[in-house]
Amino acid sequence: MAQKRDYYEVLGVSKSASDDEIKKAYRKLAIKYHPDKNPDNPEAEEKFKEAAEAYEVLSDGNKRARYDQYGHAGMGGSAGPQNMDDIFSQFGDIFGEGSPFGSFFGGGFGGGGRQQRVRKGSDLRIKLKLDLQEIANGVEKKIKVKRHVTCQACGGNGSKHGTSLRTCPTCNGNGQVRRVQQTMLGQMVTSSTCPTCNGEGKIVDAKCDVCVGEGRTLAEEVISIKIPAGVADGMQLSMGGKGNVPPRGGVAGDLLIVVEEEEHPDLKRDGNNVVYELYVNFVDAALGTSMEVPTIDGRAKITLEPGTQSGKILRMKGKGIPHLNSYGKGDQLIYVNVWTPRVLSSEEKGILEKLRSSPNFQPRPTKNDKSFFEKMKDFFN
Ligand SMILES: [Zn+2]
Ligand SMILES: [Zn+2]
Repeated sequence: MAQKRDYYEVLGVSKSASDDEIKKAYRKLAIKYHPDKNPDNPEAEEKFKEAAEAYEVLSDGNKRARYDQYGHAGMGGSAGPQNMDDIFSQFGDIFGEGSPFGSFFGGGFGGGGRQQRVRKGSDLRIKLKLDLQEIANGVEKKIKVKRHVTCQACGGNGSKHGTSLRTCPTCNGNGQVRRVQQTMLGQMVTSSTCPTCNGEGKIVDAKCDVCVGEGRTLAEEVISIKIPAGVADGMQLSMGGKGNVPPRGGVAGDLLIVVEEEEHPDLKRDGNNVVYELYVNFVDAALGTSMEVPTIDGRAKITLEPGTQSGKILRMKGKGIPHLNSYGKGDQLIYVNVWTPRVLSSEEKGILEKLRSSPNFQPRPTKNDKSFFEKMKDFFN
């Protein structure tokens, strides 16, 4: 037999370690080398046992004193717990009642009766393109979706005519199989998903002809989706129960609809406002005019006052996008850009030359003629 390691070394604590330090050190090792976490790992099993033995001695004042004085020789021939049951019996005090380990070892093995939970099928995700008008007004869209639905022929259980379903003989309907193993450390019980029925607890004797035992079929369905006004690109809407049905019964997953906003040819969205960049020539800006601009719902007439400066922002109240979760709408903002001609004929040049030194053409900004950035600040604060 190999030389026994020093108990303090095993737990990684000093000789002067307090009871609490010893307890903590053991707890750490017990979790690390626990057989549940290290299946079929004899080395971990050995470490686990070694730590348990060290803890049994060092956690007991009398035994610890004897060990300190005489070492392993002082412990007699039967130091330490002999089997897993003894080791597990220590867990009550180090893990406490109600801890996962505590309850696990406190009879959890024989617990049987696994709670049968309702199985949920997978979600389906689709992208839905919407233009600005649909977003502003809300829309009802009909879309084709391919999804797994309950097989009509067998009612979803996968058996012929929906009748010949039988309790799995391997697990007796439990869905779990328990394996009892004799090891050098005593009895070990492991629990795993039944391989015969894949944890379902029932097996199909004669398979349904339509779904071949799946209990579901792939169907193309037209689903009507109501999109509320005010959604935005990237938002996800969900329709419960319109996803896939899981194999052999359960509830359907959800249909997730991801909104994709199509770009508008003229308008840009900015939150719930829409922005239109208007270009006017400087004659219109100087003399004033009325003109049409695009809006979400077709064209609308606006008036430019004489003497309109470049950078002016006109606001069309309530011509934007409705707020999704409250009342009210955003506005349409019109950014005025006064266009400076890039190419001029000699005749045009002649006219403009006459105006160059005209007194009214000299810039005389007042404090109302704020810079573009100052105006932006006013709008968004
Ligand atoms: Zn089974
Ligand atoms: Zn079927």
